[in-house]
Amino acid sequence: MKPTDLISSLVRLDEAHKKALARLRLVTISDLLYHLPTRYENISEIHSIGTLVSGQDAIVYGRISGLKTRKAWKSRRPIAEGWVEDSAGKMKIIWFNQPYLAKMLVNGAYVKLAGKITGTGDKVYLANPEIETATEIPIDRHDSIFKGSTGEQDDTLYPVYRETRGVTSKWFYHATARAMKAGVLDHIHDPIPQDVLERYHLPDIRTAFMWMHAPKKVMHTEAAKKRFAFEEVFSIQIAKQKERREVFSASSYVVKTEPDHIKKFSSRFPFPLTGAQEKAITDILSDFKKNHPMSRLLEGDVGSGKTAVAATTAYAIATSRPVTAQDWGALQIAYMAPTEILARQHFLSFIEYFHHLPVSIGLMTGSGCMKFPSKTDPTKATAISRAQLLKWVKNGEIPILIGTHALIQKSVEFKHLAYVIIDEQHRFGTAQRRALAKKDDRIPHLLSMTATPIPRTLALTIYGDLDVTLLDEMPVGRKPIITKTIPTHDRKAMYDHVRVELERGRQAYVICPRIDEPDPDKEFSLQAKSVKAEAERLGKKELKGYSIGILHSKMMPAAKEKLMADFSAGKIRVLVATSVVEVGVNVPNATVILIEGAERFGLSQLHQLRGRVIRSNEQAYCYLIPESTGEKTVGRLKALTTAKNGFELAEYDLALRGSGELYGMKQWGLTDLGMEAIRNMKMVKAARTEAAALIDADPELKTHPALKTRSIAIMGTLHFE
Ligand code: ADP
Ligand code: MG
Repeated sequence: MKPTDLISSLVRLDEAHKKALARLRLVTISDLLYHLPTRYENISEIHSIGTLVSGQDAIVYGRISGLKTRKAWKSRRPIAEGWVEDSAGKMKIIWFNQPYLAKMLVNGAYVKLAGKITGTGDKVYLANPEIETATEIPIDRHDSIFKGSTGEQDDTLYPVYRETRGVTSKWFYHATARAMKAGVLDHIHDPIPQDVLERYHLPDIRTAFMWMHAPKKVMHTEAAKKRFAFEEVFSIQIAKQKERREVFSASSYVVKTEPDHIKKFSSRFPFPLTGAQEKAITDILSDFKKNHPMSRLLEGDVGSGKTAVAATTAYAIATSRPVTAQDWGALQIAYMAPTEILARQHFLSFIEYFHHLPVSIGLMTGSGCMKFPSKTDPTKATAISRAQLLKWVKNGEIPILIGTHALIQKSVEFKHLAYVIIDEQHRFGTAQRRALAKKDDRIPHLLSMTATPIPRTLALTIYGDLDVTLLDEMPVGRKPIITKTIPTHDRKAMYDHVRVELERGRQAYVICPRIDEPDPDKEFSLQAKSVKAEAERLGKKELKGYSIGILHSKMMPAAKEKLMADFSAGKIRVLVATSVVEVGVNVPNATVILIEGAERFGLSQLHQLRGRVIRSNEQAYCYLIPESTGEKTVGRLKALTTAKNGFELAEYDLALRGSGELYGMKQWGLTDLGMEAIRNMKMVKAARTEAAALIDADPELKTHPALKTRSIAIMGTLHFE
């Protein structure tokens, strides 16, 4: 049996299995092997209900039944109770003062309970146990894989896999065991080269799979996990380094600018550039001088002034001529924004920056095109037809074109596209760059800008093909946002203040963790506030009389845009929203933001949300309203008042909450193990160094076909390119 064989050739699959495996995108036996356990249960720690005695701390796995709530006889304390049953017996569970538990749980659920056995005689029960939903595991110590295990000192580990409707963890356990017994590991090629394995003391692929799927020692699972974590970041780096090499070997427009020339432009700004902005501009201008295209990421908090950097470097390009003498027209710049509103905003900023120069600027979005300056009034922009704009872009008369995705449509052709600036878009690889450049064999310089705060290790991985510049300094004189944590029951002063701001003509955001009211039947349903209910409540109570709008991800794009436009125009005074406003627009008149259920968000996400009110020169306020005011929550939220910038908070998130909770993590598509690797700077750097050396020596991976396959497979599961 080979790793490339189909799973269906290994075990018989019914319809439910097939659907489930398709959902998990598992097709071959190799895919199955790579569906690694997410954790291990140490079976020797689990208690069997039949053996428990009063006074004991117990961990029990079983099915819940007979859930109900009542009041205690004498004290009238509310009580939730039920039963838990495993293969050896049945035991009563009692929770005091937590009547809602019975409502959150469902009869028949399989759970893990940890608590103290209390009571006497045949009246023993499990008191106030911690509860979590669990994966059903056979607690049969004689299970086939363990049969061969020797000696007392081995750990009794049972792997737990990610499940989906139709396949259980147990199914994975048995299917994998069968594949290994059929000898599939004998045919597997290690994607990691031997010398790399040796340098970092990593187990080879056969050993690592055995240690993951049928472990005998915790130590072994740790070593195997490390190997697969490395394999993931290494495979990503291989793709990134390949991309980097490709761009490096292409040619671009070489642009040399004198510092004085740049000064002429930037000295007109109504503010002095920050040191970080100066440095970013220097980095970019020196990249322009090289004879290969720039690939640079500019990372800076909201409000750190990325647009000024974009404008200054665009100026350097727009005022240069192509090197080939017979070419007519200036070099061109394409500036792409994620939304129409942002594109329009950049267009207006660029008019401010360029209006004194003979440099035309075009705007192209799905809903229309504009050009600055207008022929009839050179101080204004004017609407023009798309055809006209396309013509001017093609013949080079418009050097700067700003827009949305509309910019990369086939119909858009440039004469000399030298520089592409993209704002908050992660998917932009060499292919898109080439597509933009069209017939030209020269690849434009690329500046990718982002305010998404991610830790350095993650940046090195997912932006492995880019050079990174940090804008880690805020413009002087910017008032820090006053951030306060408010207990959920003590809101009066906060709403008094919000009303004061509204009376002064300002606007407010209210962020809730959910869209709808919780579904009462749903197991462990969230108790968090919802946008819809909170908007209604505020409209009737604390913020009665002010126009309130709601915004969330399930709304149609057109409805969202309309709402944001109304909020921008001040027609809506209070915007109740989910975290979708993170990448929203700039509404300088909004000076206060309330964040409900604050502990449900990562620190860097809270920071992003708070960034919505940093835009104005007015004092801005952020109220965090966590549902619990435990020491841990309050301590964590405190970091928002002490951290210097979003990147520091992203590092905190990584350290405090673990990679799984990292801001926007799902958006990258890394596996849990890949995220573990991100916590380890040494590993990330090693993967990068090794990948770069390997790609230098063998760019097409001719001598490493297994690595090539693996790298392509991993890149296919990621949500970035
Ligand atoms: P972002 O990095 O979030 O894109 P912007 O480029 O939109 O930030 O800049 C935010 C605001 O700060 C703008 O109004 C801009 O004019 C202003 N700004 C930019 N650089 C400076 C600076 N060095 N000093 C003062 N204000 C600045
Ligand atoms: Mg910006």
